[in-house]
Amino acid sequence: MGDKVLILGGTEDSLRLHSLLVRQGLAVILSFAGRTKLPASLPHEYRIGGFGGVSGLADFLRENDIAAVVDATHPFAAQISRNCLEAATTTGTPILRFTRPPWPKSEGDNWQEVGDETEAAASLPAGARVFLALGAQKLGAFAKRSDVGFVVRVVDPPVSPLLPFAHEVVTDRGPYDIECERELLLRHDISHIVARNSGGIGAAAKISAARDLRIPVLMIARPEISTDGSAAPTVETAKDACAWIIDRLG
Ligand code: NAP
Repeated sequence: MGDKVLILGGTEDSLRLHSLLVRQGLAVILSFAGRTKLPASLPHEYRIGGFGGVSGLADFLRENDIAAVVDATHPFAAQISRNCLEAATTTGTPILRFTRPPWPKSEGDNWQEVGDETEAAASLPAGARVFLALGAQKLGAFAKRSDVGFVVRVVDPPVSPLLPFAHEVVTDRGPYDIECERELLLRHDISHIVARNSGGIGAAAKISAARDLRIPVLMIARPEISTDGSAAPTVETAKDACAWIIDRLG
């Protein structure tokens, strides 16, 4: 096994970890799915695009002599995390999951916890004005709720309509602050928010704004990664991830 680290990225956390590891003089490949526009400044060694499932990722680990893989993908990117766990197990590659903790429910939060987008869509009352900050791929579950007014926030301008009926689109890649989120919720007369429990500081601003404005949040729980009870060791900070890697590569 070599001394190269693969980071599965697509998150701010993965960029932070990449910088930390490079500063330690480690060889790192950062992998992006290529779903959204890439950050303006990119690391020296990166790759873009899917691997071709578990077997493709296992081949990549072997062919590139990867000494350790860090799954620093978004907490809701469950497929790549499952693939990563399986490919690392198959190839005997040490694996670490680096993911920020979910938001805890705080005093003043009016949350209804739901299992997925379908349950969230079914729970919305007719006539609600709903803010969706879910990413363009997750909107299918809301496509039958033409009795609800939606304001959808996405990172990149959509090339086709996001829903099959009139809706409003806000394009922004964040990070967001509470004042701007409050202003957005008030300007659009939002009565409900559907959010995923992503964790992190930037995305938390809408939750804090909802608390201030007493707006109910349908909070989608994180997906299970493991299907058989196995799990990668997990850390919540780039510093801890870096320490784990240095320990591994010793
Ligand atoms: P997903 O459903 O878990 O993954 C779908 C497929 O995309 C994977 O099977 C894999 O294709 C490819 N893929 C995903 N992440 C990859 C990576 N870092 N490098 C190479 N291939 C990758 O993922 P998703 O929810 O669509 O998210 C895609 C990417 O956007 C992730 O990297 C994630 O970190 C980032 N992101 C996601 C969200 C979100 O809300 N889901 C939010 C912010 C950022 P193959 O099977 O062909 O290998």
